[in-house]
Amino acid sequence: MSSKINIRALNHEQMIANFANLGEPKFRANQVYEWLWYKSASNFEEMTNLPKAFRDFLDENFFIDFLEIIFKQQSKDKTVKFLFQTADSHNFEGVLIPNKDRVTACISTQVGCPLNCSFCATGKLGFKRNLSAGEIFEQIFQLNKMSEQIFNRKLSNIVVMGMGEPLLNYENTIKALTHISHENSLHFSPQRITLSTAGEAQGIKKLADDNLKINLSISLHSADNEKRNLIMPINKKYDLDTLKNAISYYYQKTKKRITYEYLLLGGLNDSLEDAKKLTDFTKISPCKINLIEYNPSSESKFTASNKKNTEDFINFIENKNLIVTLRKSKGKDISAACGQLANKNKNFNN
Ligand code: SF4
Repeated sequence: MSSKINIRALNHEQMIANFANLGEPKFRANQVYEWLWYKSASNFEEMTNLPKAFRDFLDENFFIDFLEIIFKQQSKDKTVKFLFQTADSHNFEGVLIPNKDRVTACISTQVGCPLNCSFCATGKLGFKRNLSAGEIFEQIFQLNKMSEQIFNRKLSNIVVMGMGEPLLNYENTIKALTHISHENSLHFSPQRITLSTAGEAQGIKKLADDNLKINLSISLHSADNEKRNLIMPINKKYDLDTLKNAISYYYQKTKKRITYEYLLLGGLNDSLEDAKKLTDFTKISPCKINLIEYNPSSESKFTASNKKNTEDFINFIENKNLIVTLRKSKGKDISAACGQLANKNKNFNN
């Protein structure tokens, strides 16, 4: 496989040019492109409207970055976690979260994560590699199929909140989401896609410039520089002022409401002083605040916020007339909840 080219790494024009060099007409490239990005073909044999000799040629010179689901686990609350394996034997996870009238897919963009947030099990794995655009696309395509099989309905929402920092794998993530949104593919509305970042300020500005219609969510978790440095090392690179500037830039360009994710960590970021700093920070633009219950993993040094602190925190925010929700974590019993994705159900040996 090593000398073969990843065919989904070619864009449409490159594919046309590549095949033209071999004397193949433009419509061949269109056909292959459709099989890859609209029908999610896993091998060239499936491309039945291509001549056999051409399929053999493709097989000899290219490969498709297809994924295999090697493990599946369902929680008591019906959340389902999938362990995907790449062609070069890397593992990562994706999750289906059913609700009354919808199914949300939480997807990964990297194998592991380089940002090492101290409350996050994925960060402990270290960083292996970026997922390719094809792999991210495949993950969504397969999760959609699984959603139809298990819940009898297509995906209604996608949250890019699984393993990895999506803005550190910007091109591949956006390419995959763009293909998923294409009318001949899943035709997924960008309005139903939310990308979550730990605070990659440069990427936030790029997202604003590219004027994609997807929603942006910031994993803030503290609006105090000292505390944020402690739990999210990215804050040493982009501190709260820098992040604020990027968010402000994003809002000016897109006029889209920002969502803030805030894990309530007992005794660390759940005081009224923390709530005040949070509401001050979010004044930059219209926003929504999602407070998240913390799910300690076995090795975790943090605890969840207690009931009283949580209630006081919520009341403080509500009194500032801000929209706030407390998200009950789903899939805790199968380590599929926020910050728990760590390939624990199989040895992570890649
Ligand atoms: S919380 Fe997100 S950005 Fe931080 S280590 Fe985990 S996966 Fe990476």
